[in-house]
Amino acid sequence: MTFLIKGETETWEVVIGLEVHAQVTSEAKLFSGAPTYFGADPNSQVSFVDAGMPGMLPVINEICVEQAVRTGLGLKARINNRSVFSRKNYFYADLPQGYQISQFDLPIVGKGTIVLDMPDGVSREIGIERLHLEQDAGKSIHDLHPSKTFIDLNRSGVALMEIVSDPDMRSPEEAGAYLRKLRSILRYLGTCNGNMDEGSMRCDANVSVRPQGEEGLRTRCEIKNVNSIRFVMQAIEYEARRHVDVYESGGEISQETRQYDSNNGETRSMRSKEMAHDYRYFPDPDLLPLVFDDDYVARIKATLPELPDEKRERFISEYGLTAYDAGVLVVERETSVYFEDVAKDRDPKAAANWVISNLFGALNKMGISITDSPITADNLGKLIDLITDNTISGRIAKDVFEIMLEEGKGPDAIVEEKGLKQITDTGPIEDAIGQVMADNPGKVEEYRGGKDKLIGWFVGQVMKQTGGKANPGKLNELLQKKLAP
Ligand code: MN
Repeated sequence: MTFLIKGETETWEVVIGLEVHAQVTSEAKLFSGAPTYFGADPNSQVSFVDAGMPGMLPVINEICVEQAVRTGLGLKARINNRSVFSRKNYFYADLPQGYQISQFDLPIVGKGTIVLDMPDGVSREIGIERLHLEQDAGKSIHDLHPSKTFIDLNRSGVALMEIVSDPDMRSPEEAGAYLRKLRSILRYLGTCNGNMDEGSMRCDANVSVRPQGEEGLRTRCEIKNVNSIRFVMQAIEYEARRHVDVYESGGEISQETRQYDSNNGETRSMRSKEMAHDYRYFPDPDLLPLVFDDDYVARIKATLPELPDEKRERFISEYGLTAYDAGVLVVERETSVYFEDVAKDRDPKAAANWVISNLFGALNKMGISITDSPITADNLGKLIDLITDNTISGRIAKDVFEIMLEEGKGPDAIVEEKGLKQITDTGPIEDAIGQVMADNPGKVEEYRGGKDKLIGWFVGQVMKQTGGKANPGKLNELLQKKLAP
């Protein structure tokens, strides 16, 4: 999948690297015991450590360390047995310590990879440069008062994993696929809930362009804190086109931090890009280096679940699904579990088809997730059984499915209640055919005169006569016989 911008003088390609801040799933903060519930009252989850009170000492939360290692393993990355926390110094009203505790030259996780499965069937491997642990800052609220800013420190000290990719992406679509895949892996691992709308996963996009074929990277701009995948993709496209316009009109891009305004679809400058040395990083004297042995890492590795890539491969080989269907089913772990429940001892392709084509569409329309589906996996499986054993036709099954969605009942009860059982006995079908033929002698004449296509019309009429319940195979066979001259 190529994304190229045709300029006046050159054809340009875009180079994208993403930095994701993922909030670690943990009941307490990174260096304090304060809780981390989303949506709590402002400043109700703040310890003295989080408020930067003098003399307070940070104490590392072991669960957060384990979650970072777990994530590193899920990204097939190198786990660094020794890592160091550093202070990143800057002033901001919502950073009471005057520095952020982060990791600098010795992060907890090193190089890894994420595989993207693009819609055109091509796989792309994107490098992970590093993952490090750091604490979040508080939140400044500017829109509650015309001249005052309010500070909420609930987020101050919350554990974040900063996951930095290599500049390996070449289109907004790849950036979108990367974020979806990363989110899927984090959710499978249970290390971050991935909710971008709640700020649990935030993305900074580094964007530059270069003439197609040029080696080396040109100056990049960083678009900060974009909070939806769609906006990340829009921001990248806008920014890339802006760079091309600047170069083609003879200008230069200066390295800076920019902000995406989703209302007008533009990025605008926030500040010139600060360099690492501006932050005067140094090892935090209050914290010992993190050191673990191979056993510790092996123990965490032994608890990893089957991840989306492996599950997808298994769905292809075990159930004979297409790569596309398998990919769709494994994005969310809950969906893959639901599918496997439906497919158990049944035709897996039929199961995949009902889940993807019918259930997903319906849930989307209702705006609910599969965990809230009014149709349980058990009931969807029973519906497929009723088709397989010829109790109902595939057409009637769609009606039963709709009733299941509305009423949440099992398919057996619905079929029984509404008298939807398929008619397979010859007698009633023959009666219905006789009736339709008697009512439409003209059509019978035409058919016998060679207008074969009318067979479809007859099928429809007899179906109507039987309330859609005639077994289609039987009906066709009897109809051909009766209509024959
Ligand atoms: Mn960061």
